[in-house]
Amino acid sequence: MGMFDTIYLKTPLACPGCGTEIGEVQTHEFGETMRHYSVGSLVTASPVVTGILKETLWCSTCSQADRPGESPLYLVIWHSILAGVEQDLEKAEKRLAAVDRLDLIGWLDESQREAARWRGKYYALYHDLERWHEHLEREGNPEPEVEGESEDVRKRRQALRRLWGPPEEVLNAPDPLAAIIERNSPETEDEPNGFW
Ligand SMILES: [Zn+2]
Repeated sequence: MGMFDTIYLKTPLACPGCGTEIGEVQTHEFGETMRHYSVGSLVTASPVVTGILKETLWCSTCSQADRPGESPLYLVIWHSILAGVEQDLEKAEKRLAAVDRLDLIGWLDESQREAARWRGKYYALYHDLERWHEHLEREGNPEPEVEGESEDVRKRRQALRRLWGPPEEVLNAPDPLAAIIERNSPETEDEPNGFW
């Protein structure tokens, strides 16, 4: 099949043959660079600047059941932006004619949120790794006893240290690095460290 690009669909399409929901579509029309697109993405490598590209929707369920798994698909391109993915040509034409400023603002808003989310994920992961690194360094070089320090003050100092150290779920994990990756995975929706 060679190289392709993938379009991720927020609302899955239904295979006209069997109704299977299809959430991602492969296309050879966008330059075949293994990139990911969604509605609102710039597709500068598209051969069409404004218009409709005919593609094929492929259903693996039908194909595995030896039924024809292919049905028509229309990619709506508006000023090099993927503005819609439709199964019906008439709908695709309507979509093309209806793109307006509100669509642009919506796409801009979404991409800015997405960029902020990834930035947050990156810093949270970096922060966790930094804390883990400091923790390992401390383990290797334990702090010397502070002369004349009372038990109470010592405990408070340690509690404060723990507060800035790796979280319990990392400290107690059999594989702390795996735990760090897990809690910062792009699939983990919550902001794990709570302050990004
Ligand atoms: Zn099907």
